[in-house]
Amino acid sequence: MRALIRFLGILLALMAATGRASEIQIDTGPGGNITVQRIVDQTAWVAPDQRDIQAGQWWFYWSFRLRAPAETPVKIVFTGQNPLGVRGPAYSLDGGATWQWLGGDKVESFRHEDQPAWSFEACVPQAASEVLYAFCPHYRAAHLHAWLEQQTPASPLEVGELCRSRQGRVVELIRAGCLDQARARGTVLLTSRSHACEAMATYALEGFLSAVLADDACGRQWQQNWEVLAVPFLDKDGVENGDSGKNRAPHDHNRDYNEQPLYPEIAALMKRGAALQDRIVAVLDLHCPWIRGEWNDRAYFVGPNHAEFWNKQRRYAAILARAQTGPLRFREEDCLPFGTAWNTGSNWQQGKSCADWAREAFPRAELVTSLELPYADALGAEVNADSARAFGRDLARALVEMLDQQRIAPLEEP
Ligand SMILES: [Zn+2]
Repeated sequence: MRALIRFLGILLALMAATGRASEIQIDTGPGGNITVQRIVDQTAWVAPDQRDIQAGQWWFYWSFRLRAPAETPVKIVFTGQNPLGVRGPAYSLDGGATWQWLGGDKVESFRHEDQPAWSFEACVPQAASEVLYAFCPHYRAAHLHAWLEQQTPASPLEVGELCRSRQGRVVELIRAGCLDQARARGTVLLTSRSHACEAMATYALEGFLSAVLADDACGRQWQQNWEVLAVPFLDKDGVENGDSGKNRAPHDHNRDYNEQPLYPEIAALMKRGAALQDRIVAVLDLHCPWIRGEWNDRAYFVGPNHAEFWNKQRRYAAILARAQTGPLRFREEDCLPFGTAWNTGSNWQQGKSCADWAREAFPRAELVTSLELPYADALGAEVNADSARAFGRDLARALVEMLDQQRIAPLEEP
């Protein structure tokens, strides 16, 4: 009898455990990728899905939706390589519209079966049915369209189409600032997401556009003199599908500025650029760096293998360091010289980058650079949607000052 009771007890415990496990569901959700290795009791073993990434490469971006009974903690475990940022994972309770960092102190590191492992506790809050977790906040087309809807009809802003992506999506091309071609003294090209996962860069791009449209002194400088052409999503499919996009096989969008580009977005951008030739006065290609460590802990410009454009970049960096007002502090010295850290010739062998192309296509431009904005932390300041937007506004403020100095004065002479 006692044996029978013990057997029934074990059976009930097993049923309860199985029942709980089946109530935990993890899928990619919107704009995500995840490989679920196994769910045992209240622990889920997961990894970033390496789909479409070149063989031998690994990238850290992941994003998933957790559905589970409210207030039931679920331990999320990654093994092998650490795909958690310095402020832990980001999470969203509103389907990905807004995000918070869980906190770096919420990540536990340990060893499992002789492998390094990292975990955090996920939990669907009371009265909710799901929560999104991701390496970093999302910025997808829905975010851009929400921002566009906030703009007043009178704003000097036009939304057009650069092209269709390979999967048929509209790739937005935004015009802002001085829309009168006859009056505009030049055009600034602003791009992000040739690496699909680098969402913080697009928050900065949005902030830049907000500064251009603002009803203040900086906004008026833009609107009177300079046109901005922005492509927020250079890899539109990658952004919407939730890919990393970095090191995409056979090469990624930022190595595609070649004679025969693979990706329609890059082909269309190059064609548009060729038609603008002497009008382009600056090209700013926005990125996010590696997860952590030196140079990944600050916003910085990537130095070109080109003395003249290096000097122009340094000049812009000096203006930005002086003119900035946002919480993410940029220092004048945060320009990564060519030949330093990862920025060497071997990194660029797969094809031309946006900045490589732009320096050749627009040799008279005042600035051609790519920028790396950290995902989570810049010199101790939290990178989030608001601080990244503020950084974008600082980029706009500094650039219009530089352009006005360099271009307006000579042109106004008789
Ligand atoms: Zn990038």
